[in-house]
Amino acid sequence: MDWLRDLVFFDGKFLGIEWHFWKVIGWIGNGVFASRFILQWHATEKKRQVVVPAAFWWLSLLGSLLLLLYALVHKRDSVFIFAYAFTWIPYVRNLIIHHRHLDEHVTCGSCSADCPPSANFCAQCGAKVARPPEAHR
Ligand SMILES: [Zn+2]
Repeated sequence: MDWLRDLVFFDGKFLGIEWHFWKVIGWIGNGVFASRFILQWHATEKKRQVVVPAAFWWLSLLGSLLLLLYALVHKRDSVFIFAYAFTWIPYVRNLIIHHRHLDEHVTCGSCSADCPPSANFCAQCGAKVARPPEAHR
């Protein structure tokens, strides 16, 4: 089992990494950012079609902000900073679009099911979906 101990505590350090506060922040950022792929993959396999859940954008936003913070404060590397400086824009935009879409859902008058904005009939009970009068924007 010495090989395992040598692998985990390589060069006398856990995973051979010089650990400190910003290194932990950077690795948490990496973990959060990478976890979005697992989440999206799971959601896609579960539904058997390509799905991008809102949590994917939240994990993208949090992970990239942690990596940007790490790049700005610890690395101070222009390439690294630029790589994460603007990625939050599409993440925030996708979250806004996602929430607007949810707000436009209609509740079925017969069974109270949540119906998508484009639905003419309820997927649960088949009743015609009644829409509120068009609000002026
Ligand atoms: Zn219904």
